[in-house]
Amino acid sequence: MIDEGNKAFWDACAAGELRVQRCITCGHLRYPISTVCPECLSEDAAWELLSGRGTVVSFCIFRHAYNEAWRDRLPYNVAIIQLEEGPRMLSNVHGVSPDEIRVDLEVKVAFEVEQGFSIPVFERAAR
Ligand SMILES: [Zn+2]
Repeated sequence: MIDEGNKAFWDACAAGELRVQRCITCGHLRYPISTVCPECLSEDAAWELLSGRGTVVSFCIFRHAYNEAWRDRLPYNVAIIQLEEGPRMLSNVHGVSPDEIRVDLEVKVAFEVEQGFSIPVFERAAR
């Protein structure tokens, strides 16, 4: 659900940009979105544009439809992406088979439009 606290994130995604909060008080780059900085508890933050580049640090492959909405995607991966700037993001890596995804795979953000939302996903980075 879009609310005042996350609207800037989703607006950026709709514009094809990956932005996360940077604490104005201590400079900590934070994700997931939060109302206060986990480092210094400041409520002040600005939305910083990230490169969208990262690497896979962990992943799993789903081969069973735990939710019917995902059945036609099987098998699909769920991966933790280490973003170049520091935060980690839980997402999917599109365009790679279960045999191709691996730890340290270099990826870049892409955006999948689903039910009106532009959702950040990742794909293999060009080499
Ligand atoms: Zn802070």
